[in-house]
Order: sequence, then C-alpha cells, then structure tokens
Amino acid sequence: MTTGEARTDWETVIGLEVHCELRTQTKLFCACRNSFGEEPNTNICPVCLGLPGSLPVLNRTAVEYAMRIGTALHCRIQASQFHRKNYFYPDMPKDYQISQYDVPINADGWLDLPSGQRVGIVRAHLEEDTGKTTHMGGGGRIHDAAHSLVDYNRSGVPLVEIVSAPDMRSAEEARAYVDELRAILVATGASDGKMEEGSLRVDANVSVRRRGETAFGTRCEIKNMNSLRSLGRAIDYEAARQIALIEAGGAVTQETRHWDENAGRTGSMRSKEEAYDYRYFPEPDLVPVDPSPEWIAAVAAELPRLPAERRAALAAASGLPGDSEAVATVVRLGLDDLVEAAAASTATASVAVRRVANEVASDPEAAARLDRVAFARLVAMEAGGELTSAQARTVLKAIMDEGGDPAAVAAQLGFEAMDSGDLDRVVDEVIAGSPDEWARFCAGEEKLQGLFIGAIKKATEGKADLKAASTLLRARRGG
Ligand code: ADP
Ligand code: MG
Ligand code: ZN
Repeated sequence: MTTGEARTDWETVIGLEVHCELRTQTKLFCACRNSFGEEPNTNICPVCLGLPGSLPVLNRTAVEYAMRIGTALHCRIQASQFHRKNYFYPDMPKDYQISQYDVPINADGWLDLPSGQRVGIVRAHLEEDTGKTTHMGGGGRIHDAAHSLVDYNRSGVPLVEIVSAPDMRSAEEARAYVDELRAILVATGASDGKMEEGSLRVDANVSVRRRGETAFGTRCEIKNMNSLRSLGRAIDYEAARQIALIEAGGAVTQETRHWDENAGRTGSMRSKEEAYDYRYFPEPDLVPVDPSPEWIAAVAAELPRLPAERRAALAAASGLPGDSEAVATVVRLGLDDLVEAAAASTATASVAVRRVANEVASDPEAAARLDRVAFARLVAMEAGGELTSAQARTVLKAIMDEGGDPAAVAAQLGFEAMDSGDLDRVVDEVIAGSPDEWARFCAGEEKLQGLFIGAIKKATEGKADLKAASTLLRARRGG
C-alpha cells in the first residue's frame, strides 16, 4: 500500500486531540496524591472511587495550570462550567466523567510550528482522568483477555484536553505539532510531557480528499499511539487505507480505530452508529469556574519564555537558522542557559549550540551536572582555535564525566594548541611525501583531499584543525 503522502492527487487532513496530565501534587477533585508508577490502588479515596455521598472539591493549582496552557496557546480564558459525561466503564467508578463541555476554560487559540505554519487550537479544557485497566492474557486486548485488573491511582488525575483545528496536512506536520505542543507544555511547568508514561496521549482524526476540493472528507479517529513514531505511521497507514477505499468505489465510515503497533495497521474499534449519547448535564456539585481578570493577568505575567521565543533568541545569538535541528534540540531539552552562559559572541554561541545539541544532549544526567563556567571556557577554546572540534569533543566528554577545568584536561590529554606555523610545515611535509597524489589532486581529483587530510591528522596525532588544514591544501593548489 502506498502512503497517503506519496500521493500527489490526494490531500490528508489531520486534527489532533491531545490529553495532557497536569503535574499537580494532588488530584483534580480530592487530596489524593497525583503520582505515576506507584503500587496500584494506593492513592485513592471515596471521591476518586466515586463512592456515594462523596463530594468533589476543585484543585486551584489545576485550574491555574490549565490557564497557563491556555495563555501559552493564545487562547481566550473564559468562565467555564463542569459537566457530567455519562457512560459506564469499569475504570470510571462514578459512571460519569467530570469534564468541560460547551464552555471550556480555554478557547480559540493557536500554535506556531517551527516552520512558521500556524495550527488553530479550538479548545483546551479541564477534565479528570479515568483509572487504568489492564487486560490480562490475549496480548492485552479486551477481546481475548482472561480477566482485567483496574488501578484507580489515575482516577481523578487532572487532565487538559487540547483540541486542534483540522489544519495539518501530513504525518510530519502532525509530529511537529505534538513535538512543539509538548515543548510548550513542559515550558509552562503544567506537565512533564512524558509520552512514554502516558502523561501525553494523542488521538488523531484523519480524513482524505482529492486535491483542490474544499469540503472535508469523512474522518476516522485513531487511538493508541504511544510515540511520535507510531503517530506518524498510523496517520500514513490510515490515509492510504481511506484513499484505497474511495478509489475502489467505497466510502469512509466515521469511526474510532485502534492503532496496532506490531501489525502496523489500524482496525475498527467502534463506529459512530453505536456511539454513546453521553447525556451531558451541568455538574451540580461544582460551581462555575470564573477566573478574575487579575488572576488571568498574573498567570500571563508569570509565564516563562516559550520555545518559539527561545529558539528565536538562540538563532539571533548564534547566526544559525531558527528552524535548525541543533537550535530546536537545545530548546527541547531546556539547555538554553548552558548555551547562554557560553555565548559571548556569535562564534562562541554557534559552537555552544553545536556542542550542546550534539554531545551534551545525549547525556541528560551529565548535562544537569555540567559546570556552566567550565563549559563556557571549553567553548571559548574551540571558537578561538585553541582546540580542534574533535579535541573539544573529547575534552567535553571528559568534563561531563569527571568534571575539571577544560584547559587542564586538554593539557593532560596532550592537546596543546598547534600554532599555524606548525600546521603550515606539516602540510608541506605531507605534500612532499606523496608527489604523485598531489599532482592528481592539483589536476582536479577531489577525492584525494581525504588522503592528505588523513595524513595531516596522523602526523599531528589529531591535533590539527582540519578545517584550517583543508584551507591550506586548497591554497597550495591555488583554489
Ligand atoms: P467531536 O465533537 O466529534 O469530537 P470535533 O468537531 O470537536 O468533533 O473535532 C474533533 C477533532 O477532529 C478536532 O481535532 C478536529 O480538528 C478534527 N476534525 C474534525 N473534522 C475533521 C476532518 N474532516 N478531518 C480531520 N480531522 C477533523
Ligand atoms: Mg472529541
Ligand atoms: Zn481521591
């Protein structure tokens, strides 16, 4: 089956619904701890078990976190009302979920992707999470399970559901959206954004239409993707499935589909015909939430710098493009301060971005320990030509592992600065040692440059600045 994207006569339309767990200390309507990975059914009480007579009390911090998210997504923050969404499921002991229905706390915002593309945010509302059901036996699916276990620790954990407009047109755009949204959520401090722990869960609505058509096609909602990679695969598979169906004379039925990671395909879960009537009605045990203008303004004033702004700042400081992968990596990992500590000039800033994105990023624990001043010194040494980039990487690894002063570590490793006179001499020697190859290089056999660079590297025991060496070789040849 071809992928949806490869087809130029069809267009894929995607809208995403992202559930994000808030990192509050306690749950949305009770004082139970909100904590992942604990012994099942230890963080529970009559409220989150839905026992008769228990009453919800709204968590103020959860509301504030939701407001942070709304502010970061340029939403209108408004008076909102909780509703009961009624349906039965064993992991939801009240038989209804408390959620915001027609009046969400955040509405009508937007998010800019690093590419500059804008994606509309329809709403970002507060609701409570359900418990977690684990189907035992039969590969984890309910159909073949021998029995199921329910853990209510997650029941009542605060969620914000962020609903995008159907503004995305490819799996790449959808992934870029989730990546950017996750970075924003983490930056606000409202969520840890961990997809692998389920604190970020993405449902994808996918439809296709012939290119040039203005009306949207019928969509399917895909659930159960737990990584950006499976999100992309699921969208591509689903778009291709719908295209093939329509081209064969069929029609897409609106339904919820389940992504099967191992099989690499989506399968029907339930169709809209058997969809629930949730019988929404206002939650009588909770008053409307109506944040004052002062509270809204205070939340906005305390919001930290967001990823887009931070990327722009790093790009301006380093001269690198704002959508470069290295800049994005630094911001995604929140290591801006490390770069900023080393960014005395454009040259040091661009070296710092590269070292953080390439070396520091691969070891988050060492990154947290890394001494800002030592890192800045190392960057200055590389930018100033005292260390080649290969040497700088080696020294950086050493100070990440064991600390220490970069100049001292470099000296210990025998990385003395090579002055340019020494390099000149080595280049001459290497040329003299291979006269035939040199003649061929001069005649235009470009691949021989590698041979000379290798020889220079060997002769200097890796101390030469290879960029400078290649400039010297070309100068000797005359360009
Ligand atoms: P519902 O109320 O059934 O959940 P919404 O209109 O709120 O439906 O849309 C839910 C999600 O589906 C949103 O993210 C929206 O962008 C997306 N969506 C709506 N129509 C389409 C479509 N035709 N193709 C792709 N996504 C769509
Ligand atoms: Mg929905
Ligand atoms: Zn509780």
